[in-house]
Amino acid sequence: MDTRNPLSNPVSDLSGIGGKTAKLLEKLGIFRIQDLLFHLPIRYEDRTRVLAISQIKAGMTALITGKIVFIDVLPRGRKSLICRVEDDSGSIDLRFFHFTARQHAGFKPGTTLSCFGEIRYGYAGLEMIHPDYSVIYQENTVVTEPYLTPVYPLTERLNQGTIRKAVKQALALCETTTALLNDWIPDSVLKENRYPSLAEAIKALHTPYANADTNALLNGTDPSIKRLAFEELLSHQLSRKLAKQKARLWEAPKVSSTDSLSKQFIQTLPFNLTEAQQKVISEIRSDLESAYPMMRLVQGDVGSGKTVVAAVAAFFALNSGYQVAVMAPTELLAEQHYRNFSDWFKECTKQIVLLTGQLKGNARKEITGQIADGTAGIIIGTHALFQDAVNFHRLGLIIIDEQHRFGVHQRLALRTKGQKENVSPHQLVMTATPIPRTLAMLQYSDLDISIIDQLPPGRKPVTTSVIPSERRDEVIARINGWVSQQKQAYWVCTLIEESEILQCEAAEKTAERLAVALPDIRLALLHGRIKPAEKEAIMRAFKNREIDLLVATTVIEVGVDVPNASLMIIENPERLGLSQLHQLRGRVGRGVDESYCLLMYQSPLSENARQRLGILRESNDGFYIAEKDLLLRGPGEVMGTRQTGQVNFKIADLVRDADLLDNIAMLADSVLSQQPEIAPPLIERWLGYRSDYSEV
Ligand code: ADP
Ligand code: MG
Repeated sequence: MDTRNPLSNPVSDLSGIGGKTAKLLEKLGIFRIQDLLFHLPIRYEDRTRVLAISQIKAGMTALITGKIVFIDVLPRGRKSLICRVEDDSGSIDLRFFHFTARQHAGFKPGTTLSCFGEIRYGYAGLEMIHPDYSVIYQENTVVTEPYLTPVYPLTERLNQGTIRKAVKQALALCETTTALLNDWIPDSVLKENRYPSLAEAIKALHTPYANADTNALLNGTDPSIKRLAFEELLSHQLSRKLAKQKARLWEAPKVSSTDSLSKQFIQTLPFNLTEAQQKVISEIRSDLESAYPMMRLVQGDVGSGKTVVAAVAAFFALNSGYQVAVMAPTELLAEQHYRNFSDWFKECTKQIVLLTGQLKGNARKEITGQIADGTAGIIIGTHALFQDAVNFHRLGLIIIDEQHRFGVHQRLALRTKGQKENVSPHQLVMTATPIPRTLAMLQYSDLDISIIDQLPPGRKPVTTSVIPSERRDEVIARINGWVSQQKQAYWVCTLIEESEILQCEAAEKTAERLAVALPDIRLALLHGRIKPAEKEAIMRAFKNREIDLLVATTVIEVGVDVPNASLMIIENPERLGLSQLHQLRGRVGRGVDESYCLLMYQSPLSENARQRLGILRESNDGFYIAEKDLLLRGPGEVMGTRQTGQVNFKIADLVRDADLLDNIAMLADSVLSQQPEIAPPLIERWLGYRSDYSEV
C-alpha cells in the first residue's frame, strides 16, 4: 500500500483534530483521513440564499438577516433571552435558553444579524431557537454558502462544526492532488452504469449545488451514492474471494472418512439421519479428504439436526488422531453439547471435556492440561476456547455453532491456535439463522455452503398467534390448563434496553408476578446473571419435568432442546427481529405434542410491526422469514437484531442496493483474473482499518 498517500494518514494529521476528537471519530468508524470522505451527510441545510422573513414558515430551516429591534430576558417558564430581528418584510424572535452575559451584551438594537436555524411557532409568532448567528457590520456582507451545507451523523460530544471542518480539509486534499483518489473501478464499468468518477461522486455528496436533488442523494438513488455503494460492495466481495484463495495456501489435516467408519458411528445413534443430514455429511466428508482445509458453513433451520452432523464430522477427525474443538456462544448451549457429545461418544477412548469461562483454579488447569497433552479428544466450550492459556495438542477440526453470534476475530483466534507449520485445521461453522441469498453471496463467498433443508420426521409446525398484552389473564389461565396436562411451557421476557442487568431485573419481576398468579405451578427463572452451576441445575430440572414453567430472558434463544415444552409465550415480540423470534420459537415444536407460540405485544402496534408479526404467524420457514425480515426491517424499529459477525457497511445497503449484487459477483471474478492489482487498494480503502477482516 502506498503509505505516502496523505489520505491514508490518521485524522489527527488534520488541523483541529486532537487526540480526543480522533477518539470520538473512531466511534463513527473514521480512522484515516479518507474515511471522512465516506462519512456521508444525513441531510443538507440550505444556506445558499437569504430568505425574506415573510417567506419563512414553521418547520423550515432558513437563513435570514435582520436588524435587532428588541431584546428582553423572560423569567417566565424557563428563563430565556429573546432577541427580535426585523427585515423589510417582517420580524421573528430568536430565543436562547442558554446564554452568557457577553452574548446578552452583544445584542444591541440596530445591530444587523445573519441567522440560520429551524423555524417554530413560539408564544409570540415564529421563532428560531438557538440559531447559528453572526453580526454583520456593514450592509450587504452576508456570507451565503456556495453549496448546500452537509449535516453529518455525530456521536456524543462531537459537533457539526468540527466534523465539517475535517471533511473540508479532506476534500481540499483531494482537490490539490486528484491522483490521491484513485479510481480503481475500470472506466468501462463506470460508463456502462453511468457512474460519475469517484472524485465527482464524493464532491456531489459533500458539497451539492443549491439546486441538487437532495432526496435522491439521501435515499440512495443518485448515481453518486450508487457508485460508492457499488465500489464498497465490490471491495467486500474481493476481500472474501481473496481470503478463499489465501486459505488454499494452507495444507489440510489428513482425515480419512470411509463408508464403514461412517456407518459404525451412525448406527449407534438413537434415530435415522434425514436425507438432508446425509447429504451434508457427504459434502463434509469430501472436504475432509481434500488437500485444502475445509471452510464450510452449514445452514439449517432451527431443529433441523445440525449438532449430530457436526458430531459425525468430529468422529472422522477424532478417528484420524486429531483433536476437535466445538465452540458455542452460550454456556447453556456448550453444556448441552457436552451432554450430547458425551452420550454419542461414550465408546471413545479419548476424553470429552468442557471448558467455559467459569472453570477456575485446579479444575481449569486439569482440563487445559488434557487439551495440551492430547488426552482430551473433543473440547467443547465457549469463548474460553481461544484464550491464551489454552494450547491444543493437535487440533484438526474446529466446529463453531451459531457462528453469527461470534465476531470474525474470535473465529480467527481459534483457528490461529490450531495452525502448525503449514497445516491449518478444518473449519465447520453452523448457523440456524438462514441467510438470505443476497447476503450469503456477499458475506460468505469465502465459505462453501451446505443446507439442511429438511426437518427430522414427525415435527409439527408451531401454531403461532398474535395477541395484545391486555389478554394477559387469559394467557395465564391457559398456562394453568397446559401444565395440568403434564406439559411444560416457556415464558420469554424481552426488554428494549440492551443492558443485561435491566433485562434480568424485568425477568425477575415477571417471575414474581407469575408465581403469585400461578401458585400451583413449579416455576423457575433463568437469565444471564444466574450462576452457571445453578443454570445447569435449572435446565436439567426442566428437562426432567421437575419444573413446569421456565421464565427466561432471550438467553434461551439458541440451541436449548426440551421436547416436552410445547407452549411458549413471548412478551413484547414487536421489539425483536423476526429471525430472532423464529429462533426463540424453535425451542418448541420439538416433541410429539401440538405446539403453540403466543406473541403477546404491547398495544398499539405499528403497521410495520403488525406486518412483521403476521409473517411469523403465517410461516414456519426460517428462510422465508429471514428474507422478509431483511425487507421489512424498519430503521430504528427493530431492536435486538443481532449484527455481531455480520458486515456493517459504510454506505451500501443490501436491500436498497440488491440490484448491484449480480453484477458485482461477476466483476469480482474478472478483476481477480485480469486486474488482480486493483484488489488490494480497493480493500484497503473500504476495509483497511479492519485489518484482520481479509484474513478470514
Ligand atoms: P439444530 O439444528 O437446531 O441445532 P439440534 O441438533 O439441536 O438442532 O437437533 C434438534 C433435535 O432433533 C435434537 O433433539 C436431536 O437429537 C434431534 N434429531 C436430530 N436429527 C434427528 C433425526 N434425524 N431424527 C430424529 N431426531 C433428530
Ligand atoms: Mg443447534
